[in-house]
Parts: sequence; C-alpha cells; structure tokens
Amino acid sequence: MDGLPATPEGTSTETGLDFDAIVIGAGVSGLYQLYKLRELGLKVRVFETGSAVGGTWYWNRYPGARFDSESWTYGYSFSHELLDEWDWEEHFAGQPETERYLNYVADKFDLHRDIQFNSRVTAAHYQDDTRSWDILLADGRQYTTRLLITAVGVLSAATMPTIAGVETFQGQSCHTYYWPKERVGFEGKRVAVIGTGATGVQTITEVAKTASHLTVFQRTPQWAAPLHNGRISKDEMSRIRANYPEIFARCQETYGCFIHSTDPRATHEVTQEEREAFWEKLYGEPGFGIWMGNFRDILVDREANALISDFVARKIRQRVTDPVVAEKLIPKNHGFGTRRVPLESGYYEVYNQPNVKLVDISETPIERITPTGIKTSDAEYEFDIIIYATGFDAITGAFDRIDIRGVHGVSLKEKWKDGPQTFLGILVDGFPNLLMLMGPHAGLGNFPRAVEYTADWVTGLIRFARDRGLTLIEATATGAVAWTDHVIAASEGLLFTEVDSWMTGINRNVEGKQVRRIMRYSGGHPKFRERCDAVAAERYRELVLA
Ligand SMILES: Cc1cc2nc3c(=O)[nH]c(=O)nc-3n(C[C@H](O)[C@H](O)[C@H](O)COP(=O)(O)OP(=O)(O)OC[C@H]3O[C@@H](n4cnc5c(N)ncnc54)[C@H](O)[C@@H]3O)c2cc1C
Repeated sequence: MDGLPATPEGTSTETGLDFDAIVIGAGVSGLYQLYKLRELGLKVRVFETGSAVGGTWYWNRYPGARFDSESWTYGYSFSHELLDEWDWEEHFAGQPETERYLNYVADKFDLHRDIQFNSRVTAAHYQDDTRSWDILLADGRQYTTRLLITAVGVLSAATMPTIAGVETFQGQSCHTYYWPKERVGFEGKRVAVIGTGATGVQTITEVAKTASHLTVFQRTPQWAAPLHNGRISKDEMSRIRANYPEIFARCQETYGCFIHSTDPRATHEVTQEEREAFWEKLYGEPGFGIWMGNFRDILVDREANALISDFVARKIRQRVTDPVVAEKLIPKNHGFGTRRVPLESGYYEVYNQPNVKLVDISETPIERITPTGIKTSDAEYEFDIIIYATGFDAITGAFDRIDIRGVHGVSLKEKWKDGPQTFLGILVDGFPNLLMLMGPHAGLGNFPRAVEYTADWVTGLIRFARDRGLTLIEATATGAVAWTDHVIAASEGLLFTEVDSWMTGINRNVEGKQVRRIMRYSGGHPKFRERCDAVAAERYRELVLA
C-alpha cells in the first residue's frame, strides 16, 4: 500500500457535524478525492446513486463502450505501486476493463468503507449559522457536513428523447447509460438505435455484428474517425510502464491532457501533397491525433476546417459503398472537430451490411414510439429492442438534478439559468464550502489527468483552511465574474462555439437548454493550472476564508 494514513474512522468531527466532508459521486473523481481527504485525516463519506464504484464505467455497459483516451494515459498517476501492478489489456480499454480497474483501485486503497451506495443526493442546503451543509438523500436520510464536494460527472445526467409514446413500447428498451448488467442478446432480433453521437457510434458498430436487423435513426451525423485499437502485449506494457513519467509529463503539457499535441504548423503553410500525407498518417494512427494533433488552425480557421472536413468526407465516401447513404453520413451543418469526434472501429462499413438501414430523421422525423416500434413521417417500423443513445444533459445536468441552495436559500440551478458562473470551475460565490471537481468552466480534458490536478488543488485549499482553523471557504462575486468573463473570452474565435452540441450546452430534450452557452474552459489545461497555481501561491487571497 502507498502509506495510506489510518482514517479516523468513527471519530465524530469536533463540530458536532456528521462529516467533515461529503463527496457526491464515486467515479474517477470522487474516488481520488476520497483518497486525498483521508490523507488529511478528515471524516469523509461518499454518496453514490449506483451500487458500486466506477461512475461512467459503472453505468455505461452498452455494447462497444470503451475509451477514446489511451488506457495508459487514463489510469491514475498518483501511486507508483498502482502503476506497477496494473496491466492494461488494450490500448483503448472497453468498459469492463475500466470498471475492473476502478474496483481494483477502490480495493487497494480500501475506499469502499467510506462509500455509501444506492444513495442519491436530492438536496443540499447551506446553513449560514453553522457554516455547514444539510444533505438529503432520496430515501429521506439526512446528514450534515462542513464541506460539500461534487464529483457528479459531466456526462452522468442521461436524457431520453421527448418523443410521444416512449412508455408504450412493449419490447425491450433501454438508454445506453442505464444498460442492464445482464447480457442483452441481439441474435435474431430487430433492433433500433436512436442517436449517432459517440455512444451511438460505438453501440451501432457492435449491435450490427449480431442483430438480425438494425435500423439506425440519425438526426445529425458526426465526423467519426478510426480508433485503431489493439491489444497490449506484456513487452509493450513493460515499455509503457518504463515510460510513465514521460507519458504523464507529456499529458501535462498538452492542451487537453491527452498524449496528442497540436502540430505547430498552419494548414496553408504546407503544400497540398504534404497536407494530404499528414492527414493520411493521422487517419491511420490510433486515438485523437486527427483531432488534437492536427494543424494548429483547423478549429479556428474556416478554410482550414473546410479542408480537413473535405478530407474526412472523402474517407467516408470511400468506406460506404452506397453514395446516397455516404452523403447522409457526412455532416453538413458543422465542420470536423467542432463537436466531440467519436472514434470508431468499422462504423462506416456497418452501413454496407445488408442487415443495416439508416433512417435520416431530419428528412423523415420520428412521430411517435408505438407499442411495436417506431413511426416516422413516412413509415412504420417494428422492433424487438429500442436503444436510446440520446446522450446527456451535459456538464450542469447532474447539478440541476440536486436542489442545491446556498446563502439565503438561493438555488444554484436558478443562479446558473443563463449560464454557469464559477471561480475556476471549482467555487461559486454565495455557496460557501461547496467545491466542485470538474464543474462547468473548469479545465476539462483527458479526465483523470485533469481531475488529479483539481482534487489536489481542492485538497490543498482545504488543508490551508483547516490548518488555520478557518471554517468558511467562498469565492468572491468579483472573482467569479472575472473567471466567467475570462472563460467566455478564451472561447472567442473557436468554431465550436457556432455549433449546437453538448459542449455548447444544447440538449433539445431538456427545457432551458436550447440556447448556446460557453460550458467549458477553452484556454487549455496548462493555462488553467497556471491560474489555479497562482491563486494557491498567493495564499488564496482571492477567496473569502474565515
Ligand atoms: C461513454 C463514455 C465514454 C467516455 N470516454 C472517455 C475517454 O475516453 N476519456 C476521457 O477522458 N473521458 C471519457 N468520458 C468522460 C467520463 O465521464 C470521464 O472520463 C470520467 O469517467 C468522469 O468521472 P467522474 O468521476 O468525474 O464522473 P462520473 O464517472 O460521471 O461519475 C459521477 C458519479 O456521480 C454519481 N452521481 C451523480 N449525481 C449524484 C447524486 N445526486 N447523488 C449521488 N450520486 C450521484 C453518478 O451516479 C456517477 O456514478 C467518457 C464518458 C462516456 C459517457
């Protein structure tokens, strides 16, 4: 074990509160935050809706669910022992492997004893007089805590489409997030998948292998690119292990904490031949290189973006034999990379199979779900299984589903109704002692790389306050306005801001999420860390500590 200090289990906090800290969520973020708070000797409890650890990798059991991050860049970096012990099986691990990994971590660091499963937090109300939070669970249990730390996930509030008749379907139906633990067989079944985002692309590719017939209902096609996954041999794993320091150092340097860094050249600085050769190379390589390791201007310069979009469109045309279907699969309303790029393993070839049909619901909208299937404006289809790959109320959705109230009972949902306002994506003025891991406007990216930093920063802040006997931590309104303005300024000129997607806060199935908003910090993780480090170095003078 990594010298984990004994947890003061059973000790009550000196304050008479149930806990020093409550963490909501037992995914990658919550697990690491628990580990860090135990190091401080705090009495902590994690509340988790699910029945086991893993978050994203506990819930999303749909066929084909897997990383787009290289597995060996995704694992935690904080423990040498853990890095020495864990062998990744695939360069891009599937859900079962990642779930096993997170359970291994929880067991190794004895985290389970502070995690309360089947415990959904429905309300969190700040009490001014005691500088503490009252926490309410769905089953009515209540707890008090000095600190409330949210690790609720950016893609954890699943949304169903608002199509009439969803509840009337008599076959099997499921949202990909709530996929059952038992195996779902598609052999001999007529299956529908609604949605073609990153999850839809993975699901469709897998289901098409065994379903007797698969019908894909697509509203907006995506610019998917090949994943090029592969197994990791023992020798390769040894080489990766020996390189961990360089791998993690590299991830710290890149914009999104991925292994891929932007090419310093602009698209027009090279000849057309060089450009094509570079793009061929990227298209043939594993992972997000084609998105994140591309020319520096493809996501800001319209012409550059049109050129890379044209390159990927040509690839789609080459891979799909029916030209009409190929055109339907090529996005026309947004350029390459301006939405999250799904990585695929044979997705386009699926549409060459005789058992697969693509229905473009922008042309023939779904009118209703019927007891036997789906009715569009021009046809009625019968299915045994309907899969909803309809995504998430991203980034703020999980917050909105908890009644979080700060000073004077102000609701967080209400405060953020015209867009989130935070300080560093971690604190909110008017909500003392609330700390968010990967909240809106935080530095996002390859998740564990980003959250290890944030949880360390949060832990440093808590230690600072604790050592001085301070019981109130809050952002100032000026600080929150300045950070929010900076986040908005940092996204100016980026083409993604002109596109509807979960990254711009759009979800047609959620009321109030129809207006584009800046939901994440686009200045890059190095700049994010620089700013957070400066706040800590200045002994948190920009915060109210009392
Ligand atoms: C299919 C899929 C693939 C992904 N692939 C990648 C990838 O390749 N690379 C990458 O970096 N990121 C990826 N992500 C993003 C992924 O969400 C993060 O990598 C990471 O798992 C997030 O960890 P988290 O702990 O912050 O949140 P989550 O893993 O979302 O965990 C949050 C937990 O909080 C719980 N929770 C929420 N609200 C409450 C409440 N009110 N009460 C109690 N519990 C609550 C949830 O049940 C959940 O278990 C992917 C996401 C999805 C959906």
